[in-house]
Amino acid sequence: MGDTKPMGKKQKFIFVTGGVLSGVGKGISAASIGAVLQAKGLKVSIQKCDPYLNVDAGLLNPAEHGECFVTIDGAETDLDLGHYERFLDLELTQKNATLSGKLMQNLIADERAGKFGGKTVQLVPHLTGAIQDAIAEAADGADVHIVEIGGTVGDYEGLSFIEAIREFSGRVGRENCLYVHVVYVPFIGTSKEFKSKPAQNALMDLRGFGIVPDCVIVRTDEPAPVSIARKISMFSGVSEDAVIMLANASTVFDVPLTIAKSGIHDVISRFTNNSKKPNLAKWQKIVAAHTSKHRKNVRIGLVAKYVDNEDTYISVLEALKAAGWQEGVGVDIHWINAETASKKDFDSVDALLVPGGFGGRGIPGKIAAARYALKYKKPYLGLCLGLQVAVIASARLAGLRSANSTEVDADTKNDVVYIMEGQEGKESTGGTLRLGNYDAKLVSGTKTAKTYGTTKVVERHRHRYEVNQAFIEQIEKGGLVISGTSPDGKLVEFVEAKDHPYMLATQAHPELKSRPNRPHPLFVGLIKAAKR
Ligand code: GLN
Repeated sequence: MGDTKPMGKKQKFIFVTGGVLSGVGKGISAASIGAVLQAKGLKVSIQKCDPYLNVDAGLLNPAEHGECFVTIDGAETDLDLGHYERFLDLELTQKNATLSGKLMQNLIADERAGKFGGKTVQLVPHLTGAIQDAIAEAADGADVHIVEIGGTVGDYEGLSFIEAIREFSGRVGRENCLYVHVVYVPFIGTSKEFKSKPAQNALMDLRGFGIVPDCVIVRTDEPAPVSIARKISMFSGVSEDAVIMLANASTVFDVPLTIAKSGIHDVISRFTNNSKKPNLAKWQKIVAAHTSKHRKNVRIGLVAKYVDNEDTYISVLEALKAAGWQEGVGVDIHWINAETASKKDFDSVDALLVPGGFGGRGIPGKIAAARYALKYKKPYLGLCLGLQVAVIASARLAGLRSANSTEVDADTKNDVVYIMEGQEGKESTGGTLRLGNYDAKLVSGTKTAKTYGTTKVVERHRHRYEVNQAFIEQIEKGGLVISGTSPDGKLVEFVEAKDHPYMLATQAHPELKSRPNRPHPLFVGLIKAAKR
């Protein structure tokens, strides 16, 4: 552990750190740099390192931490992996999400197994070594590997990561490492000026840990004058052309275009010995679709529990936007609070979407949304929990009044959604969900199969409860049909409403596979139906 592994000679590493505050767009910056490198024909890989002590992101509160993004191999990760997948059109795995808790868990297990031969186990060199190994492993096969370090430089828990990426340049050569620091410059309304002092201090902190950055990305809410870049350049020792000002953009997919136009492009061209002009047509098209004056806007009612934090449903929102761009309509999101939802809310939108969720809070409102969609033929897309509430609504419409999920009512007799035999007892917290990619077969001739254009699909999952097929008769009597199952037929994967313009629901999370330039068919179907 921690010893030098031989690595591909020409492989390049870009480390993205942040200062001043977190949540100002390190992930978007890292992903956008990757997108520009890809557009220059390079093979790019990317990784998020999170210093907090959780073993995975599965148990983090989505209201505080944003969506939990699931990889194809079932890792529960930070929402930045979602940005990476959307910007780089890659399918990432657990190698691409490195958490302190996980590394420490492994270290302690090794210590218990006596693998350290009597040595003292320490943050340096053992944790820092494990971090470097994780980086080397995730970089495998790429021309350029990008590593984003979560949090801000100077955070207590992040120090091992900062030390690890500093040491890494000794391992692969400083010329093969590029350090990018993302800082925030606030605008003070009363004096009407941008203040660069916190950014200067953040750069000093980074230098204090032995890292002199090669590029600085300066995030601001509004466009800032060049004098700010000049000042930051002077204080950081980074040349002015390597300081890029990045004001808030109307769409994040504009950021690769901004980077390609900036001095950073020259810096990364020299760094990667690649002077090719990036082919950015894909991003130009997306930005054009986003900014074009739409003939029409569709109103999508998002029936949700966390209505004050877009990050909680970021992949769902991105999937809706992408479908809107393809269909040439603007998408207005109407947040419908699942705890107070009423018929009036459902009346006021063109389509309803019930996203995933855990726990009983807000369930009655979500069941009401599905019932409304069934009864009034309102376009509806159900994602995971959105399928489960549709099944409950349908069974209740068929007269099974007390139909419920055992997640809500553990003792219900009519457990139309339940934990399957063989799954019981595994439902304790932490890593016991059905996670990652699963195959499904669709019933040919159904709207689901037609919308996909195929009968064999693979989607990502993150759930514990399943539809109880003992109640199929009642569920179907209420208006739904099973339109897709697991290949062995045991698990219900898709349902749809009979004689309905568009009511589809899936046990999976198709939003995770949607791409800005290749929206997921289920979302395109919803937007099309909302348009009519
Ligand atoms: N809570 C439900 C389950 O565990 C749905 C999960 C989800 O929507 N991701 O099955």
